[in-house]
Amino acid sequence: MSSSLMRRLAELAAITDTPGALTRLFLSPAHKRAITLVEFWMREAGLTTHMDEIGNLVGRTPNGAGKPVLLLGSHIDTVRDAGAYDGNFGVLAAIAAVAAVWQDLPYAIEIIAFGDEEGVRFPQTLSGSRAIAGSFNPAALAGADADGITLAGALRNFGCNPDAIPAIARNPADVMAYIELHIEQGPVLEAENLAVGVVTAINGAARFSVTVTGAAGHAGTVPMALRRDALAAAAEQITAIQAHAAAIPDLVATVGSLSVHPGAPNSIPGRVTYSIDIRAPEDAVRKQAITDLGAQLHQIAARHRVQLSVTQTHEAAATPCAPWLQAQLADSIASQGIRPFHLPSGAGHDAMAVASLCPVGMLFVRCKGGISHTPQESITQEDANTAVAVLTEFLRRFIPQQEN
Ligand SMILES: [Zn+2]
Repeated sequence: MSSSLMRRLAELAAITDTPGALTRLFLSPAHKRAITLVEFWMREAGLTTHMDEIGNLVGRTPNGAGKPVLLLGSHIDTVRDAGAYDGNFGVLAAIAAVAAVWQDLPYAIEIIAFGDEEGVRFPQTLSGSRAIAGSFNPAALAGADADGITLAGALRNFGCNPDAIPAIARNPADVMAYIELHIEQGPVLEAENLAVGVVTAINGAARFSVTVTGAAGHAGTVPMALRRDALAAAAEQITAIQAHAAAIPDLVATVGSLSVHPGAPNSIPGRVTYSIDIRAPEDAVRKQAITDLGAQLHQIAARHRVQLSVTQTHEAAATPCAPWLQAQLADSIASQGIRPFHLPSGAGHDAMAVASLCPVGMLFVRCKGGISHTPQESITQEDANTAVAVLTEFLRRFIPQQEN
């Protein structure tokens, strides 16, 4: 069964808009061909299928008519020059698990293949999962791709009716939960020597632009004690950011860009601008870190007699995974003889949008070297088998529950 899952992943990965690399953008010809293929596999598994008005492919088991459903899914769009597993694994693994058990289950399952998780083509992202959750903003329909094609126009070309998108929003009373399988896209499970792990939350994130202003001067004539070197101050700040994040579990902070003015070997740096990206699974942890780091950066600036200006450029709240779903996923992992392990997600997923509709849970599967968004992305057949077995067991054991 699961060796056929690996074959299917390879077959799906061959569907691309650009020969020689996997690039499958939202509402592209390759997206349409991928829907046709995945729909074939859904029907073969016994599901009834349709494409909805935002280009999501939806497959539903025929049992449990009129009762609340369990949603499973992930995305089948990709970044440019992508790997074969990001998103696609979650959809095909769900089909494999559901095919094996749905006839024994007292409830209905819908598998959704979302089409716009990566947000490569249009300005907005998560269009499919937002539409399901009822949080799709119709203003996004006017957003255009690089060729000037609007989202509304692309949807019509694809066979969707953008005016009918509000009608595909689910009623929370009709949905029990959403479960997404995804490759980890990070190195933690590999370091733990584990095939799978339970996601605790999708990290919240904040970004800042920091400008340090000192005084430019001649590198030969200004004595060290009289300098106001913006780069020397920034270097100490960056080291402090790194040390602060390293001391707090699950907090990550990154200075990923830096520019130095005037930027010449014989000039004392007068101005430095750098970015800070801070992420954590809990909003309170992220906010505390921002407060504490702000104080540290100002102290360092004062010591170097430079000015500091910090501007926030981005903020997104964390998405916690429901504790009761985490517990049921952990039990299903333990049933396979594997140590249940919990970890946060550093990357965004459709589950972030679906979380406004219903409780969400995620299961990560180990990927080689933790690398993703490149053709080198890789998982083993054995780990894929394990993830499908865990999901199958989860579906067998699933007990709907109110959030505790
Ligand atoms: Zn993904």
